[in-house]
Amino acid sequence: MAYDADVIVIGAGPVGTVALALLGRLGVAAIGLEKDVEMWTTARAVHFDGETFRTLQALGIADEVRAVTIPMKDVDIVNTDGEVLVHAETHEIGGQGWNEHISFHQPDVEALVRRVVESAPGISLRRGVTVTEVRNVEGGVEVATEDDGGARSVLTARWAIAADGARGQFRRALGIETDKYGEDEQWLVVDGHLVGAPGYQTDMIQFASYLRPALWLRLPGTRVRMEFMLVPGDDPDHVATPEAVELMSAGILPRDKFTPDRQAIYTFRGRIAQRWRDGNIFIAGDAAHQAPPLFGQGLCAGLRDVANLVWKLDLVRRGLAGDELLDTYESERKPHATYWVEVAANQAVAIQTLDPHLAQGRDEFMKAHPEASAVPIPPSLGPGLHDGDRDGRAGRLSIQPIRSDGTRLDDEVGPRFVVAAERSLYEQLPDEVKAVLDEDSDTVTLLEPVDAGVLLASVDAQAVVIRPDHYILGCADTVADLEGLVRRIPSIAHLSAPLHR
Ligand SMILES: Cc1cc2nc3c(=O)[nH]c(=O)nc-3n(C[C@H](O)[C@H](O)[C@H](O)COP(=O)(O)OP(=O)(O)OC[C@H]3O[C@@H](n4cnc5c(N)ncnc54)[C@H](O)[C@@H]3O)c2cc1C
Repeated sequence: MAYDADVIVIGAGPVGTVALALLGRLGVAAIGLEKDVEMWTTARAVHFDGETFRTLQALGIADEVRAVTIPMKDVDIVNTDGEVLVHAETHEIGGQGWNEHISFHQPDVEALVRRVVESAPGISLRRGVTVTEVRNVEGGVEVATEDDGGARSVLTARWAIAADGARGQFRRALGIETDKYGEDEQWLVVDGHLVGAPGYQTDMIQFASYLRPALWLRLPGTRVRMEFMLVPGDDPDHVATPEAVELMSAGILPRDKFTPDRQAIYTFRGRIAQRWRDGNIFIAGDAAHQAPPLFGQGLCAGLRDVANLVWKLDLVRRGLAGDELLDTYESERKPHATYWVEVAANQAVAIQTLDPHLAQGRDEFMKAHPEASAVPIPPSLGPGLHDGDRDGRAGRLSIQPIRSDGTRLDDEVGPRFVVAAERSLYEQLPDEVKAVLDEDSDTVTLLEPVDAGVLLASVDAQAVVIRPDHYILGCADTVADLEGLVRRIPSIAHLSAPLHR
């Protein structure tokens, strides 16, 4: 069957746009379809993590991203009386080779990704095109569209990624239900420029006030964000007025010094789709999961989805892996995303309480256990292409070493599997395995201590195999285990198949 593209991406919010850029990097032909002509009408995220920075680095835009973002240096949780319950310093470069907490203005970063998409060979992003239907057909998908002028067409592809957002129709159209986490709450989000007033000195503050939970964030330049939970008695028509914002912010956003450029009321909710794959259609981003934004992880999770999926699609497209590899998208990503939704929903319950007695108990608990309110350690992937079921190091994100000259390892290895090993262990591999490792252009072997040493020390092993999405496939200390891991790399398994005959 001849397709219009290998992949059709429905929706070019941040998740769909990054999916297109990652597909382009792998040479996968893709069409993006976005109903809005302007790309940032729904921009909401203000924070991303080191893993997300690494994904943007993979697109070749790390310097540009750094120029428009700022590391977040500290975070406080403050109670109704203004007492600091939890304080965290967050300015250090983390294991991903980037700061772990970065503040940004989403349109600035999306514009950079869009530029990558626009210059990627084999990728076309069509704006002003609404997808009206997507359906599985033998060996692929059919996607019906209607453009702004009313012209209709049907496109075909081998796969579709529905990244059509929380309010997108395709999850529902596929009959996929969601599970609910925590309680839904309405918050007013206020973005704008603060000039001539100091704001707060801390970069991010969660106000766990039982009178009105709120959030403060300093963004690049003069930009700031405040969020205010709506409480009983609020008049939605009045709450966003400059007077009300000045009052709710306790004068931090004074009318004459704060110029809002966007205010909107959002429902913060926790949801996980029960299925993430329907035949040749995958759902990703907010279409698959939504979290109250307390840890700033919704967008990060969406980018993890597509970083997990695209290299698998590419391997199957090139005949180097079977369709069953695509089932690991849901099995790996759903538990991981569910973890973040759960911890964010639990934190939301604690921060959002309007009951003074519960708030007092919470304050005492947070002061006694500040570590319990810190940003949680990222979980491992659910079951899939890794050894996580028998080795706690596998299925987790690998580190990215920064060399003494300041270069980062990902820039050298690119979107490939990495086999890092002590040379003495590697040399014991059977010659035919070393030969296929040499031959396989989807795998890079690191044996020099300058490259492999830091990776091996991070997992305390003599060898580690890392996937193109930077997650650890497995660790080895014996040649048999290393050979077993190498043979699980789909492109190697493909090349070495004749060895088993
Ligand atoms: C107040 C708030 C603050 C947040 N802060 C953070 C944060 O700091 N960090 C973080 O990581 N996350 C944060 N999030 C979450 C984050 O904003 C979302 O997870 C992220 O924007 C989801 O991106 P997406 O591409 O999946 O969906 P969307 O951004 O919703 O994009 C979906 C796209 O699909 C298009 N579309 C829909 N239907 C169709 C159709 N039929 N045909 C064609 N196109 C279609 C839409 O026009 C849209 O462009 C926050 C969320 C909120 C509400």
